[in-house]
Amino acid sequence: MDSQKSFDFILIGSGPGGATLTRQLARAGKRVLLLERGHDWRSNPLYGTYPGAMLYTEKASFLATKEGLNIIRPFLLGGATSMYCACAAPPLPWWSSKHGIELDKYANDTVKELNVAPLPVDLRGVASTRIAEAAAEIGQLWQPQDKFMSPARATQFKCRSTCMLGCRCGAKWNAAEYVDEAISAGAEVWTRAFVDKILIENRQVCGVSGKHGRKHFTVYAGTVIAAAGGIGTPRILQRSGLSGAGQGMTMDTTVMVYGHAPYKGIGNEPPMTWSYTDDELGAMFSTLIDPWLNYPVIMLRKKPAYALTWHRWGHTLGVMIKLKDEISGFVPVNGRISKGLTANDKARLQRAEKITVQILRKAGCNPDTIFTTPVRGTHPSGTVRIGDMLTTDLATEIKNLYVCDASVFPEALARPTVLTIISLAKRLAEKLKVAK
Ligand SMILES: Cc1cc2nc3c(=O)[nH]c(=O)nc-3n(C[C@H](O)[C@H](O)[C@H](O)COP(=O)(O)OP(=O)(O)OC[C@H]3O[C@@H](n4cnc5c(N)ncnc54)[C@H](O)[C@@H]3O)c2cc1C
Repeated sequence: MDSQKSFDFILIGSGPGGATLTRQLARAGKRVLLLERGHDWRSNPLYGTYPGAMLYTEKASFLATKEGLNIIRPFLLGGATSMYCACAAPPLPWWSSKHGIELDKYANDTVKELNVAPLPVDLRGVASTRIAEAAAEIGQLWQPQDKFMSPARATQFKCRSTCMLGCRCGAKWNAAEYVDEAISAGAEVWTRAFVDKILIENRQVCGVSGKHGRKHFTVYAGTVIAAAGGIGTPRILQRSGLSGAGQGMTMDTTVMVYGHAPYKGIGNEPPMTWSYTDDELGAMFSTLIDPWLNYPVIMLRKKPAYALTWHRWGHTLGVMIKLKDEISGFVPVNGRISKGLTANDKARLQRAEKITVQILRKAGCNPDTIFTTPVRGTHPSGTVRIGDMLTTDLATEIKNLYVCDASVFPEALARPTVLTIISLAKRLAEKLKVAK
């Protein structure tokens, strides 16, 4: 199918990068097409359930790198914000000091627009707050975590660990809402539209081709912006002839440390209500536990014996460690991703685990029950990096081809990514509106 329609802009992917740009450009009166490979699951009864989460993640959430790192990769309108913990962190100072990329005004604007703030004291969870207090006893001053979440938005606020499968109560903001606003401003949006290639003529972009449902399509535009995420974008670029994409990646590689407490655990409390970042070590700590049914499956990956701790889930305290991992591995166009931990990553992760064990002991966990889960990743990023493949304006070597998603990160954030990605997208939208 050759679409006769042509657009000013084509956006690939509806995560925070693609959704924000689509809305901003449509509001500026541009003719915009957004192409998203997933469905809009929000009104589906399976959204936010265990079977739903298996249907809208790659390989039913069993995707793993060659080195055994498990990756959760959602495919649906709103991208990974449809399954996130709604944590927000401001862009790090190095965006400005190292790269001259000023993001603060866009981040501040977003914080106001989306009412980003910590949950009220009574919703931060008794056990989660106890972990934060225990951390303070060893000198780590955890802070209430800022959230893209407001109990007032919810039909009935029900945020607990299962809300990571998809928010059913409506408390969390999701990038699909920016897509709705873009449609109201005139943008065209195709879901189930998988982009195979970006079309390039004389080193200038002219459109994209792919499959919409079962039909092949080609659509044309003066400017194309790849926002298909840290794995999707490098693959599309490689298929389009930009072979340098996907060489090296960051993941904010994550483990959880669990311990059995003599009181109710954090499973029925909102995830990640408290956190602490140690930038010298390169690690973020926060309160988190796997949802009830995911827990034994993840433990089986460690050793079958650990699955037997499932009965303790209701009395388990969990601390998530997110590591600022080094750039390593690669995303091939087909086949398995390579990403593990470097020797330096492993050494720092061990130090972070020791600290966490101390916290859980202080919080009252039986020391014999404390253990660490296998490694996983929910922030694939740094695969089409600023400085290597992109200018600080997110432009590629191909005229009018840009990238705006987690793949542009020049290094790992070891923090929530979404506020930074929205800020990058608002900044790029402003530049593109001026330039056109
Ligand atoms: C369980 C979980 C919890 C998280 N919690 C937080 C949190 O609390 N706070 C935070 O800031 N971050 C969190 N994150 C991470 C954050 O959600 C992601 O880093 C962020 O959404 C990445 O944005 P993006 O625009 O790069 O891409 P994505 O959000 O990954 O969106 C990319 C989109 O592109 C689509 N796509 C891919 N390939 C193609 C193609 N070929 N054609 C068309 N469409 C394509 C995908 O379907 C997807 O919808 C979490 C992630 C997960 C999985």
